[in-house]
Amino acid sequence: MERMNTDIARTQTMSSMPAIPLGTLADFDHTPGVRLVFGRGSCMRAGQLARDLGGRRVLLVTDPGIVAAGHVGRIQGYIEAAGLEVTVFDHSDQNPTTATIDRCVEAGRCAKIDFILAVGGGSSMDTAKGANFLLSNGGVIRDYWGWNKASQPMLPFIAIPTTAGTGSECQSYALIADANTHEKMACGDPKAAAKIAILDPELTLSQPRSVTAVTGIDTITHAVESAVTKKRNALSLMYSHEAFKLGIASFAQVLRAPKDLDARARMQLAAAFAGIAIENSMLGAAHSAANPLTAHYDITHGIAVGMMLPHVIRYNAEDPQVRRAYAELASAPELACVSEGEDYAVEILVGQIETLLDIAEFPRSLAECGLKKSDIPMLAEEAARQWTANFNPRPITAADFRELYTASLEPRPARE
Ligand SMILES: [Zn+2]
Repeated sequence: MERMNTDIARTQTMSSMPAIPLGTLADFDHTPGVRLVFGRGSCMRAGQLARDLGGRRVLLVTDPGIVAAGHVGRIQGYIEAAGLEVTVFDHSDQNPTTATIDRCVEAGRCAKIDFILAVGGGSSMDTAKGANFLLSNGGVIRDYWGWNKASQPMLPFIAIPTTAGTGSECQSYALIADANTHEKMACGDPKAAAKIAILDPELTLSQPRSVTAVTGIDTITHAVESAVTKKRNALSLMYSHEAFKLGIASFAQVLRAPKDLDARARMQLAAAFAGIAIENSMLGAAHSAANPLTAHYDITHGIAVGMMLPHVIRYNAEDPQVRRAYAELASAPELACVSEGEDYAVEILVGQIETLLDIAEFPRSLAECGLKKSDIPMLAEEAARQWTANFNPRPITAADFRELYTASLEPRPARE
């Protein structure tokens, strides 16, 4: 009887609580396509896993820095120990072009490869995916610009990231630039995604401090942007929030103590989970504003997105539904609680991002990175035309981007 009274009392309390404005749940269509193999030393399984997927002659796509770090020799050894042949292509460059892809395809055709494995950062994985389109379906990269353009099955592909950043290991898109026009072509196909991503945090220990800082901020920006886009949905939010939680908890630590393997592992999972979130939710205005900055001033992607992010959050938070989404994101790692007020939670979120930019030792303003006031109208036009701008939760025009760029010329406030 007493129990029943308690239940009635609880029901009455709950029914008198104000309804939480959750908004309408967006549709999604997601098949968890990439098998994740996570753990210290898990790259030792590369050969066995490639053999299980039917590989016999493997094209290992990487870059010279990863070879110098010793990862390629080790992983090549594991693959050969499983009885497979390996051809190494170590010419992935920072922003892969159609020329890079052509060289990679040539190497693959000469060796008659039947399997692709990428070891490295986003550029190695993009090169591997781009080459896979041509090796399996023929033609040129431009033929695959867009979504779902490959008609034939693609070669099985394993991704082994050595940075915690792009999340490309969990995505079905490759970003390739036209070698002549420098136009960036996003080529996506469900078949282009890796069959397996091997997440071995030990491989990320070799990242130089600057790479750890830049890729870490990119990961956190992915979590924040994917948590609020127009396409956000119940599934993507799970990944965005978890990625944000892992990233916020560990970013300062991987810079303070680069050999802390637990912190490295959390950042690596954050990058992969944010990659899955992007696959389902896309990105927003910080990425739209960043691309012209990278194209015209050669500002590193992670720096450009990170420095635009606080301005984009303030702009988007003018919309009540988006403000709520940011407040919920800030609640995931308990930076602030929604019940303390949404405005307060958003301010805490912005303050936290600015603190991380300080920890990353990023410049204090985009003026320091070379951004000229006179270029802002041109950059703003380009930003508004970026694909990601379509998914920003609040409509955004070139005039809005002009204001965001202008704000970014001022030094960010000093944080503790
Ligand atoms: Zn990014």
